[in-house]
Amino acid sequence: MSVLRVTRTVYDAMRAHGEETYPHECCGALLGRAAEDGWQIEAVVKAGNTRTDSAHNRYQIAPAELVKIEREARSRGLSIGGFYHSHPDHPAQWSPTDFAEAHWLGCSYVITAVEQRKAAVTNSFLLAGVIEEDKRFEDEDIEVIETTEPSEALTESKKPAHEFCL
Ligand SMILES: [Zn+2]
Repeated sequence: MSVLRVTRTVYDAMRAHGEETYPHECCGALLGRAAEDGWQIEAVVKAGNTRTDSAHNRYQIAPAELVKIEREARSRGLSIGGFYHSHPDHPAQWSPTDFAEAHWLGCSYVITAVEQRKAAVTNSFLLAGVIEEDKRFEDEDIEVIETTEPSEALTESKKPAHEFCL
């Protein structure tokens, strides 16, 4: 089983983002480095949820925003290692829509259940497979790395998330 390693700051930021946008979904990208058994995530980039039609159960990061996120990752010597979103008042399990819209093979997809505005369970799923046709989600462990360093991990992409998420 693969392991998603995230710093405490990243972990807390993902979960807090879900509480902020409740009852709508939040979404964002995870930047880090590939390790042998999974990603080591060092930064989170909050994204605007472009699904204004039903932001409570769908999420999507706009292509232009994704390009910006990739550029930011590269400038920091990191790669996009995954994506996260929240499930307001739903379990932290991937939905058929999540699966259909997941295309980054080898990346981690993190889902946080937010119950009554409080972040509950957080799960991660590795999108395994070598081609789109045989992709599948595999459960993976999340390991939170406690760090005492002051963090620069939290950045936001230019457009404020709440512009889309509320
Ligand atoms: Zn979902």
